[in-house]
Amino acid sequence: MDFAIVSSRIYTGDAARPWAEAVYARDGKIVAVGPNAEIRKAATKSAEVLELPGRLVTPGIVDAHLHFVNFGFYLERVDLRDLTSIAACRERVKAAVAKTAPGTWIIGRGWNQHLWTDRREPCARDLDDIAPGHPVMLIRCCGHSVWINSPAMRAAGITREAVDAPGARIERDAQGNPTGLCREYRKLIEKIIPPPSIEQRKAAALRAQAEAFKHGVTGVHSCETLGEWDALAALEGEGKLKVRVHHTLPPDLVETAKGRGIELTKGSDRLWFGQVKLYADGSLGSDTALMHAPYSDNPGTTGLVVLTVAQMQERIELAYRHGGDVGIHAIGDLATTNALSAIEGARRKFLGPKRDRVEHVQLMHPPDFARFRAMDVVASCQPVHLHTDMLVAEKKWGMDRCRTGYAWKSMLREGIKLQFGSDAPVEHINPLLSFHAAMARQRPNGEPEGGWFPAEKLTLEETLHAFTAVPAWVSRKEDRLGALKPGMLADMTVFAEDLSALAPEKLLAAKIEMTIVGGEVVYRKE
Ligand SMILES: [Zn+2]
Repeated sequence: MDFAIVSSRIYTGDAARPWAEAVYARDGKIVAVGPNAEIRKAATKSAEVLELPGRLVTPGIVDAHLHFVNFGFYLERVDLRDLTSIAACRERVKAAVAKTAPGTWIIGRGWNQHLWTDRREPCARDLDDIAPGHPVMLIRCCGHSVWINSPAMRAAGITREAVDAPGARIERDAQGNPTGLCREYRKLIEKIIPPPSIEQRKAAALRAQAEAFKHGVTGVHSCETLGEWDALAALEGEGKLKVRVHHTLPPDLVETAKGRGIELTKGSDRLWFGQVKLYADGSLGSDTALMHAPYSDNPGTTGLVVLTVAQMQERIELAYRHGGDVGIHAIGDLATTNALSAIEGARRKFLGPKRDRVEHVQLMHPPDFARFRAMDVVASCQPVHLHTDMLVAEKKWGMDRCRTGYAWKSMLREGIKLQFGSDAPVEHINPLLSFHAAMARQRPNGEPEGGWFPAEKLTLEETLHAFTAVPAWVSRKEDRLGALKPGMLADMTVFAEDLSALAPEKLLAAKIEMTIVGGEVVYRKE
């Protein structure tokens, strides 16, 4: 396709010319960027000219941290959020049963009995008549308790005789029979659900891709395993993979992958093996994020070491030996310190430029700002988490520590490379949620007034940079992706409004006009 976008507001990401009026693309690449008159002259007769006043055009938005195929599965789950009765939940399950092969699990999420008019907890009998041939698991909004039907109980061995798993509870009626409500049973039941087939994974990937395009996302950095890789590779072979996927794998799969010709930093411009993914700690809400000092609300703990510095270093060296680098999950401040120490240790043995990243970096130990900068390690953050986390953080860290929590402006001021993502399916893929969180630092309801630690608010350009240029650099594709200048791949996101003219509080309602990957329009607003 040969097209020009004119009379628009274009953020190029090119330091030499950050803003322009018009852009011209041909054969999947950017040919020219500049003033309207210049671009109209440059465009050939066959070029389609799109007049897009009042919009904002940017390099394609990249979600630099998510779980792509799993997000596709999540989209298929029965959505029970905000429903107000058991009857309403039943309607949703019934609709899913009608389009699902018998024997296949139906999974739902988000129910909350406190919103119901029923004034009781749900049970298997509420599902058995509508889904006698499908095991059903409906996950409560907390993510821990599950409401299951009789086929699911049979599959999971939850019988009158069953003993509660440690730390979990099967609710029972007066006769001792399980009711179908099980607390802390989600993980246990997920283990017995058969893994999806490659065809199911491919379908999930296509669902995720459509959702990504609808929200202006042209590329993703996805943390999954070889099963998801295979599905994406099959779609690429069929010409159906349009989104660009920087795929990461756990360290124990590096050799297996290599045996199958999947090598670190290699692949195509649609799907490549980007990095090795490691875990330094757990999560904030469960008190397993690893902290330098104890939790303010739980002084008995400093969290959980998932990998020690030595264990991490060994795995980083594996990645370096294979010519790649790593992404390390670190939420607590000590986890980040450990991740940096492990990278430092490994780099002493493996010289040469690296493009490592630490994922989340939710709380920074103040001396680590300088270490990030000195080692040129990327902070890979998900601003959208702030929407739900600010109150949790205050409780768990105390206000004093919070000053270096989600401290994106401080990171930039210290010269740290910063990139952004959504962590879907933990949060939705819509990048505007993170634009809002990074620029307004408020919950969607507008609290707190003025923003949470407002000195850490980012500008639109800083936010765009974290969604475009930095993920391209991390992928070693900064010569092709992340900016709109001649010779680059024509990946573009067209926002329906000029975001630079919107107050940050209004960003949540903004829409996508078009999504373009390699010059192909993959989404257009109806
Ligand atoms: Zn994640």
